[in-house]
Amino acid sequence: MESIIEVKNLKKYYKENKAVNGLSFDLYKGEILGFLGPNGAGKSTTISILSTILKHDSGDIKFFGTDIKENKKWIKQQLGIVPQELAIFEEISAYKNVEFFTSLYGLKGKQLRSVVLEALKMVGLEEKRDNKPSTFSGGMKRRLNIACAIAHKPKILILDEPTVGIDPQSRNHILESIKRLRDQGTTIIYTTHYMEEVQEIADRVIIMDSGIKVAEGTIAELMESYRNTRIYKISIDTIKKENFKCDFLYEIEGIQKVEVDDNCFSITTIKEIENLDKIILGLINRNIKISHITSEEGNLEMVFLKLTGKKLRD
Ligand code: ADP
Repeated sequence: MESIIEVKNLKKYYKENKAVNGLSFDLYKGEILGFLGPNGAGKSTTISILSTILKHDSGDIKFFGTDIKENKKWIKQQLGIVPQELAIFEEISAYKNVEFFTSLYGLKGKQLRSVVLEALKMVGLEEKRDNKPSTFSGGMKRRLNIACAIAHKPKILILDEPTVGIDPQSRNHILESIKRLRDQGTTIIYTTHYMEEVQEIADRVIIMDSGIKVAEGTIAELMESYRNTRIYKISIDTIKKENFKCDFLYEIEGIQKVEVDDNCFSITTIKEIENLDKIILGLINRNIKISHITSEEGNLEMVFLKLTGKKLRD
């Protein structure tokens, strides 16, 4: 696999705060690399450095084999950046917005018009091209932000949490557009704290926490140890944690772990073994009233919890 970006032992401290603390990874041609981690993990700092917006303290970064410090201008031209904060002009048309940002890369005339329209089409705003962003929903503004970043056809697209706080329709649209850009040959870095998004679009994932990489691999690789796991979460009405004796659950075939948290307990069990009826019966026989049951298969949240002892949204 061809490495497009190589990062080695990257560090960026804000006084004592080790925002990025020795991160190494490669970005391979044609992939969507998902950066997953809770708020404060160091994702934005990392991609601001890669975007050449922020200087790192130490470590090496190479784009197409060239050191980031050596040819910043050329590297910038290869990049499309979608920052967390919207960077659009509210009172000029969508078309003019994309045209302005794209012209900064030296495109002109017919070619400029053609790529601007193509980008607006990619994000589903072709019909709204003459409207001002001030009339757009939050999701439409985000899509316009993306159009501004992709019209010059960057080789690498970097997106920082592009779906925070937007409607589901725009979210789906954004995820679909990103997959289409990947299929057309763009290499993509996508940061998010939404596990489901990474599971939906990323070819490979880096999980970050407290400035370091805690895991890296394809979703299938990361999930390997959870492939065969199911978790039942059962809320009960009638009993307090301290009074709950769960030993009987361990006698049911397939059950690996039982955790009790207030009036809810989580039962980790082997997926193939049908044992929910036995669990329910066991509870009923002990006069425990069940108010709610959910069932989850292994997911990245569990991988994260296992590696860090924390929940992604903490
Ligand atoms: P994420 O994008 O994963 O939420 P960030 O990269 O924004 O994480 O932040 C990583 C850490 O660096 C956090 O503890 C954050 O408070 C800190 N940090 C980020 N930017 C600054 C800054 N400009 N000055 C001081 N501390 C910062």
